[in-house]
Amino acid sequence: MEKSTTYRIGIIGVGPRGLSVLERIIENARDEIGNPITIELVDSHSFGAGEVWRTDQPSDLIMNIVASQITAFTDDTVEMAGPVREGPNLYEWARGVVSGRIRGNFSEEILDEAEQVDENSYCRRAFYGHYLEWVYTRLVKNLPGNIEIREHRRRANSVVNTVRGDQLIGLMDGTMIEVDDVVLAVGHGTVDLSSGEEAAENFAAATNGLYYPPANPADVSLEMIEPSRKVLIRGLGLCFFDYMALLTTGRGGRFVRTDQELSYVPSGREPHIVCGSRRGVPLHGRADNEKGDRRYEPRFLTADRIADLRSKEGNGNALNFRHDCWPLIAKEVETVYYTRLLANISSEEHSHEFRELYETVPWSSSSEREILRKFRIPEEDFWDWSRISQPWRHSDVESVDSWRSFIRSYLAADVREARRGNVSSALKAAVDVLRDIRNELRYVMNNGGVDGESYKSDVEGWFNSLHSFLSIGPPWNRIEEMVALSDAGVLEMTGPRFKVDLDRESGKFIGKSCVPGDEHESTTLIDAMLPSTDLNRTRNSVLANLHHGRQLTNFTVKSSASSDYMTGGIAVTERPFRVIRPDGSAHPNRYVFGVPTEGANWVTGTGIRPNVNSITLGDSDAIARSVLGLPTETCLPTGQWKQNT
Ligand SMILES: Cc1cc2nc3c(=O)[nH]c(=O)nc-3n(C[C@H](O)[C@H](O)[C@H](O)COP(=O)(O)OP(=O)(O)OC[C@H]3O[C@@H](n4cnc5c(N)ncnc54)[C@H](O)[C@@H]3O)c2cc1C
Repeated sequence: MEKSTTYRIGIIGVGPRGLSVLERIIENARDEIGNPITIELVDSHSFGAGEVWRTDQPSDLIMNIVASQITAFTDDTVEMAGPVREGPNLYEWARGVVSGRIRGNFSEEILDEAEQVDENSYCRRAFYGHYLEWVYTRLVKNLPGNIEIREHRRRANSVVNTVRGDQLIGLMDGTMIEVDDVVLAVGHGTVDLSSGEEAAENFAAATNGLYYPPANPADVSLEMIEPSRKVLIRGLGLCFFDYMALLTTGRGGRFVRTDQELSYVPSGREPHIVCGSRRGVPLHGRADNEKGDRRYEPRFLTADRIADLRSKEGNGNALNFRHDCWPLIAKEVETVYYTRLLANISSEEHSHEFRELYETVPWSSSSEREILRKFRIPEEDFWDWSRISQPWRHSDVESVDSWRSFIRSYLAADVREARRGNVSSALKAAVDVLRDIRNELRYVMNNGGVDGESYKSDVEGWFNSLHSFLSIGPPWNRIEEMVALSDAGVLEMTGPRFKVDLDRESGKFIGKSCVPGDEHESTTLIDAMLPSTDLNRTRNSVLANLHHGRQLTNFTVKSSASSDYMTGGIAVTERPFRVIRPDGSAHPNRYVFGVPTEGANWVTGTGIRPNVNSITLGDSDAIARSVLGLPTETCLPTGQWKQNT
């Protein structure tokens, strides 16, 4: 039902999610609303790209998703009540820029990169930023006559209720904006340091050392790190690869390929990098994409199965992740692995026959083993989760030499598999399943689907790290570069269980692994990870002020057996993500979308993928329709229509 008056909507944060909500408001309104709509956009960074994808960041920073798998537009796979308005994904946009079909004031640098982009390119982050800015410009150019956009290139500091029940957005420069509804899509941010980080910072200050706490590497000034200085980097995730690039090619070094070998030519301005993590090995290199913009369709974690699981949860028997969800996830992964393995070592026909049979028996049953033997799968090729999550053996960590030899061959094998592709390599096809079934996992886990105790220990304490390790890694080239840097003597990889002590006697950070003699001292430590999502520590003043004003609270996952688990994310309703206040009531005019709600929603730090029923697009549509007062029924994967008022 259309509201009778005008609409005043505020969007705080205009990165990919804020942009998507804007697009959905415009397209829903184009079809259904004739009354005047004013949209107030607030972000100090450029609209569309926002902070993460800003176009002035170093060109060494690249995306971890291929150009054909990221978009800002809806498509007909998206289950939503609003209209589909298609538009180019990043790859199609690049083609359009090259052909001149897409016009704009593009620099030589963008045109050059656009020339080189193919469907499976990992573009520079700044390049994607240009795409997002173009999307924003296109939206503004094609606005319906009844919609006005007002741009505020500032940060918001506060949101308060007025006596009339309106929302008053306070900007950092003191400007006040009155709206009916406000959407906070404020994404990633910084938080107060944890006690360990604060101790490291104080230690560095007292010893003339350098400490870099968790941050987006693009925001960090590394100039104080002189050439040849030894730098400890803690963490081997995506931020590590950013630092690796910034401190090497970012300082003038070059990678050169001769035959099959990649080597590194130093500039002489690099520091000496010593890196490590608890697991000891970096994230899996991402395989060459052989899926185009499609995905693996789940065969076990299906819509019906999800409906079963959620109805169990709805009857007061909250799900236990390990017991109820993991067997389905593991079965998906392992079935893909064996099916591809058999196709590779035998024939497609044989593998098809195998799958038909293997699918009928429960995960981890003796019947599974019988089938594996029947199809003569060698025992040494059996899938082994403990081996996958900890790839080294005891003998590999007995000495520094044994570790070096292990890690080199491990990384070489990872690159080899990744180059075979995410369909052709049995291993890479299997781990890519975890990325492909994220939608389904969200339907199961979001909004307290899993019992609090299990969410804390099984999801946050175990599965999230395994999922990241296997499925969100950098393109395999980064792994190859790591090896080349190690050969060039620029980078050293420590053994597993890496930890850093603050040694007051020497005034140095001491990094140690579980490998005997693997000890490194340095005056510089980088924590290579993003700040965690934690409402209690947020430095985003708009969130902090709302929190202190008792207008926001943490999302708590209920537990039937144990104590409830309070996450660091903000409590919101299901779609359309209205803010839940500490007294449990939902604020009718405030919405929080995306990263700050991690905990209520699972794995929110991702881009929008086309043609796979992106949940983010469905979410944006629901928020847009809600602020426009339009019905926001959404179709769940269960095939049921759900009324979100
Ligand atoms: C370093 C990094 C690399 C990443 N790489 C990838 C990748 O390769 N592929 C991928 O799929 N995902 C990647 N991601 C995940 C990322 O979460 C999403 O791709 C996407 O950026 C999320 O969009 P968002 O709009 O929710 O948040 P953001 O992109 O963080 O945007 C939030 C916006 O809100 C603004 N904002 C915050 N507070 C305020 C305030 N108080 N007032 C006004 N404005 C405010 C910020 O300036 C920012 O522009 C990456 C994330 C990071 C941090």
